[in-house]
Amino acid sequence: MIAEVIVDVAAYPIDRPFDYIVPQVIESIIEPGVRVKVPFGRRNVLGYVTRLKNESELEIDKLKEIDELIDLEPVLSKELLELSKWLAVQTLSYEIDALQVMLPAAMRAKYEKFIVVNEPEQIESEDFSRFIAGRKRVSMKEAIEFDFLRVLKKYAAEGIITVDTTVGQKTAVKKERMIRIGKKSELQRILESLHVNARKQTELIQWMIENEGQTLRAKQLFELTNIQPSVLKAVIERGAAIEEYVEVYREPEAPGMKDVAIPEQLTDEQQVALAQLSTSIKSGKAETFLLHGVTGSGKTEVYLRSIQEVLAKGQDAIVLVPEISLTPQMTSRFKARFGPLVAVMHSALSAGEKYDEWRKIHRGEVKVVVGARSAIFAPFENVGIIILDEEHESTYKQEDTPRYHARDVAIRRAEYYGCPVILGSATPSLESYARASKGVYTLLTLMKRARNQQLPEVNIVDMREELRTGNRSMFSVPLAEAIRKRLEANEQIVLFLNKRGFSAFVLCRDCGTVVECPNCDISLTYHRAHERLKCHYCGHEENVPLACPECTSEHIRFFGTGTQKVEEEIAKLFPVARVLRMDVDTTRQKGSHERLLRQFSEGKADILLGTQMIAKGLDFPNITLVGVLAADTTLHLADFRAAEKTFQLMTQVSGRAGRHDLPGEVFIQTYTPDHYAIELAKEQHYEPFYKHEMLARRQFGYPPFYFVTLVQFSHEDLLKVADFAEKGARYLKENLSQETVIIGPTAAAISRVNNRYRYQCLLKYKKEPKLTEALQQLIKLYKTNWMKSGLVMTVDVEPTSIY
Ligand code: ADP
Ligand code: ZN
Ligand code: ZN
Repeated sequence: MIAEVIVDVAAYPIDRPFDYIVPQVIESIIEPGVRVKVPFGRRNVLGYVTRLKNESELEIDKLKEIDELIDLEPVLSKELLELSKWLAVQTLSYEIDALQVMLPAAMRAKYEKFIVVNEPEQIESEDFSRFIAGRKRVSMKEAIEFDFLRVLKKYAAEGIITVDTTVGQKTAVKKERMIRIGKKSELQRILESLHVNARKQTELIQWMIENEGQTLRAKQLFELTNIQPSVLKAVIERGAAIEEYVEVYREPEAPGMKDVAIPEQLTDEQQVALAQLSTSIKSGKAETFLLHGVTGSGKTEVYLRSIQEVLAKGQDAIVLVPEISLTPQMTSRFKARFGPLVAVMHSALSAGEKYDEWRKIHRGEVKVVVGARSAIFAPFENVGIIILDEEHESTYKQEDTPRYHARDVAIRRAEYYGCPVILGSATPSLESYARASKGVYTLLTLMKRARNQQLPEVNIVDMREELRTGNRSMFSVPLAEAIRKRLEANEQIVLFLNKRGFSAFVLCRDCGTVVECPNCDISLTYHRAHERLKCHYCGHEENVPLACPECTSEHIRFFGTGTQKVEEEIAKLFPVARVLRMDVDTTRQKGSHERLLRQFSEGKADILLGTQMIAKGLDFPNITLVGVLAADTTLHLADFRAAEKTFQLMTQVSGRAGRHDLPGEVFIQTYTPDHYAIELAKEQHYEPFYKHEMLARRQFGYPPFYFVTLVQFSHEDLLKVADFAEKGARYLKENLSQETVIIGPTAAAISRVNNRYRYQCLLKYKKEPKLTEALQQLIKLYKTNWMKSGLVMTVDVEPTSIY
């Protein structure tokens, strides 16, 4: 039998399956989708069996044998194996990368070298002999630590030792030590045979006699008896008990948040939506729905009820949520509804915890997974529904290879299983809404809030006006007034600082110099905590200069607004307010995110101040005021999605207020109140924004009217990068259709990062049958010829941002 194996080597000419002979002993158990250890070149690597066959096109004596089977059960189903092939083509990446992205990081290969001692009697070095101490296998790392590298080289050359590699996985299954206590008669016998001095052992055996036949965790036993591990070991050696290791799951900390009550009656709109979804669930056909519902309209309730139907059919459900900010409240709702049938996979889990959640899914112990992007690859084998909440979020697109979009993968998997996909959002991406308008997706709409609450009243505050009247504070008069009112009424406030592209930087007030990163063409960000300047692209750090590097003026100081600075200003303006700050700095620690939200939900603070993180998902009854401190900051990004992102953010943030009984109010502070994205966010009507934005996209030829692909080049040498970009563009021009527009090569918006100059070409096309082929050829050219000279080229099909 022959196995086709994709090996764990990401390099150009290796990106294809290799044939290996399956040793007879494993023929009956090997299946496609298992991991194996195979010899490759002069070492052993991990590989994935993708196919089994009877014959190879190569001569049999040229083939090597599989060395070891790592899994007894396939870790990738037939469906996922097929999906990986598709994914590799779609994202123009290596098949090995497409395979690995489907599995938890814990299952990636871990290679460890060890020494096999073939002829111990030939070893002359006494030191080395002593080090080996009769062992047959010794860890290479250990031998190097003890400085035996030269000895190793010599003995290896003489064949006295050989070096081999173990191929394991990064994180192991967690096991716990259990103690099974023996029978009374046996314990009695041991007790009598003990020496009188063995007091501790005697004590332990006596305790065991009282607990004969029981099995308990070793940890527990130590707590109960207060004895030393060595004593336990001694009595086990005498046969008083048996120790065994039992597999356990690492249980992530439960969020412990209150669940919202289960509504008894669906709203009319919810009923209409659910009826259509039910029909689709029963039909066994794939169908994609766009569930467009204003914030608080009860989309989540629709998800929960659809899942209930899917579970009743004996099928599984995948629910994606954009990022950790959503999970505490979201997951507690799912857990409250479906209990232990839910696995949770989000980025705050440790590798081991993620692996355990994955195993629960793989073994069929759970039926629902709620997770971030990568949960789209959940190893269910009977998927009945796939849901993407906040489908417009850019986090659904992976930023590195394989650059997949979870939405595309969802639709692909749903086609395989013949099941519905729900894309849910209050502010759908233009692409999805356009598809729904054309009937490619089925549109479901929830116009009203579930409990008939009014959408909050949105006020736009012109900050230029504030400046003119002499208010230099970051709080406008109307917002400050509103905050004061809420503090008096004991209601809660959310303040949102849109940090992207507008964090604090250091500016010379005399000459206007902004302190920039020496490696990148971008200004350094001021971090108050350590009085340091940091580059968010390359990690460069330096002290805040005391004088301007250009004009030596001392009037150099930071400018702009960081959350810490806002916090200080709040303390000045509203000394009684209790503030919780939520940003990257305060949520670095595991579980801190949940803790802060819990504190806020328990009313332990008046103001929640934060960045993007707090824009979504929050659903607390006492929030009646939302303030956006500077709405413009995303508008000025050099990105065709800037207006869309701004509108989405404003709508999401506004949706945090007045979700329950108390009415809500929103203040949006801006320097560009006339921009349509801001003006239309006031009414919170999606349609007018969609129409306006579509006109702009049509005019400039951007998605969804055209597809775009971004090809980026970077090199340490400016002339070289320009040259390669030129070559790349020429190649594409020659190999793509006339209708495809190629913009560039041009310098990228951030033209240098980490001392590498960046160039790009943007391809725009409506239909380009030659696209995949041309890009694959370009990548081949790059990997075989250009890469050697230090060029890095990346291809991003339908990028979420262009910078
Ligand atoms: P969305 O996901 O659209 O933002 P949710 O599903 O979170 O909306 O619902 C918003 C609030 O309304 C929640 O507190 C939820 O419990 C409540 N809710 C949802 N559906 C109903 C209903 N049919 N009747 C009463 N309350 C509901
Ligand atoms: Zn200066
Ligand atoms: Zn930098």
